[in-house]
Amino acid sequence: MCIGMYFRRQELTPDIMVGIIGAGISGLTLAYQLQERNIPYLLLEEKDITGGYIKTEITDNYTLDIGPNSILADEEITKFFNSIGIENELIEANPNSKDRYIFKAGKYQVLPDSPPKLLKSNFFSFKTKISILREFFRKTEKIEDETLAHFITRRFNKEVTDYVLNPFVTGIYAGNPEKLLVKLTFPILNDLENKYGSVLKGMLKSGGSGRRKSFNFRNGMATLPKAIAKKLKNLQLNTQVEKVEYQDGQYKVSALSNGQILSYNFSQLVIATPAFAASSIMENISIEVAKALSQIEYPSMALVHTVYSKDNVNVQLNGFGGLNPKIENKFAAGSIWTSSVFSGRVPDNQILLTSFVGGSQYSEQYKNADQQIKENIIQDFQRDLKIEGRPLMQKIHRWEKAIPQYDKNLQAAYSEIEKLQVKGIYFCAGWYKGVSLSDCIKNASQLAKNISTLKDTHS
Ligand SMILES: Cc1cc2nc3c(=O)[nH]c(=O)nc-3n(C[C@H](O)[C@H](O)[C@H](O)COP(=O)(O)OP(=O)(O)OC[C@H]3O[C@@H](n4cnc5c(N)ncnc54)[C@H](O)[C@@H]3O)c2cc1C
Repeated sequence: MCIGMYFRRQELTPDIMVGIIGAGISGLTLAYQLQERNIPYLLLEEKDITGGYIKTEITDNYTLDIGPNSILADEEITKFFNSIGIENELIEANPNSKDRYIFKAGKYQVLPDSPPKLLKSNFFSFKTKISILREFFRKTEKIEDETLAHFITRRFNKEVTDYVLNPFVTGIYAGNPEKLLVKLTFPILNDLENKYGSVLKGMLKSGGSGRRKSFNFRNGMATLPKAIAKKLKNLQLNTQVEKVEYQDGQYKVSALSNGQILSYNFSQLVIATPAFAASSIMENISIEVAKALSQIEYPSMALVHTVYSKDNVNVQLNGFGGLNPKIENKFAAGSIWTSSVFSGRVPDNQILLTSFVGGSQYSEQYKNADQQIKENIIQDFQRDLKIEGRPLMQKIHRWEKAIPQYDKNLQAAYSEIEKLQVKGIYFCAGWYKGVSLSDCIKNASQLAKNISTLKDTHS
């Protein structure tokens, strides 16, 4: 729907008019929640499609997610799915796929998912098991800007850092645990140490953070942005915001739309783009913020989908996937055994594996040519998963700027944002206080609530 003409006329701008830049999951959710509260908004998106990093490619035989592969849902997220009417589209992860495999000592081994299982299994050395038990009694420390690797090595030991933390951080952030900060990634770890004196004691006493389930959708992850976009009355595609200025208490936004320069006035402005795009948008508002945003790292990552006939697979792939600790020097960061997790991705007699190459610890591997990456993955599958022969289909998708790194540079950007003097500008995106889709939905929903409080004080 094109409503640019209407918003160009300043005299029609009501007291609260929210401009949202970027129709990824964050901007879409925010727009939807504002609409539900009868708050006027306009959502501007540069592409001709919504969803940002969420993308699904559907062909005759295959449903391939080339961005996020699943979403973790608790009660709040489930309610959100119901409100946008996609509850019948949901596919829950197969219960047989709950095990996570980690490559260790030449093979994939199940990572024990509870302390008793961990003590019984041979996954860790005896020394590490003792070290894990000693975490209950280890003295607490407060360390400024502590990295995840430092925290886990301090509380547990290096083997836990290398074989649990490292592959998981690769899986979530495509990041390096030596650089990511505890307080930005898993602040719960600091909280448990401070409150209970021990992470394990805290986990036992607080009873965990509530069960969350992993979901995808019948027609892939793109179902989610499509469903939200369908509900929106004020979404404008093909509109690239180029410049924002703050004048007389209003945000003046200039955008390029189908070769035309359009301008809009907003009382509140939400930037829901990746940090590198937010950086140029912010240049006229604060050069310091713009500079800090430009320094947030987004390592590159390639997703490789590989499909085999089931006849070629000699082992049961009952698990979520296999993650590769950096110390094992594998080519890929890991693979999700996608067809074991979600049904309907490929025909019943085939399997689909989704591999990740790149991220901050595998940047050299990303530099390989497409064909080389594909071949290396086939060789790894032959050696480590005993899959024979050639795949029926293999596709690669590259993200030059994949996932924002929650490290010191991000911390510096947050500090600059806190110093911003102008009012009524907000950030709502995967780089701002939560990278997962569920964090993006929750943060956007909370921002809509905060903005609606402003409206109440205006009226
Ligand atoms: C490969 C990969 C795998 C992932 N896997 C998972 C997973 O399995 N589960 C999970 O929970 N999370 C996952 N994530 C993270 C998650 O996908 C992202 O954090 C999330 O999608 C970010 O959403 P967003 O709305 O903040 O931003 P984006 O998706 O980046 O959306 C921003 C939008 O802004 C638009 N835009 C940019 N500049 C302008 C401009 N100047 N004017 C107008 N519009 C503009 C863009 O076109 C885009 O549509 C993954 C991410 C990647 C890259």
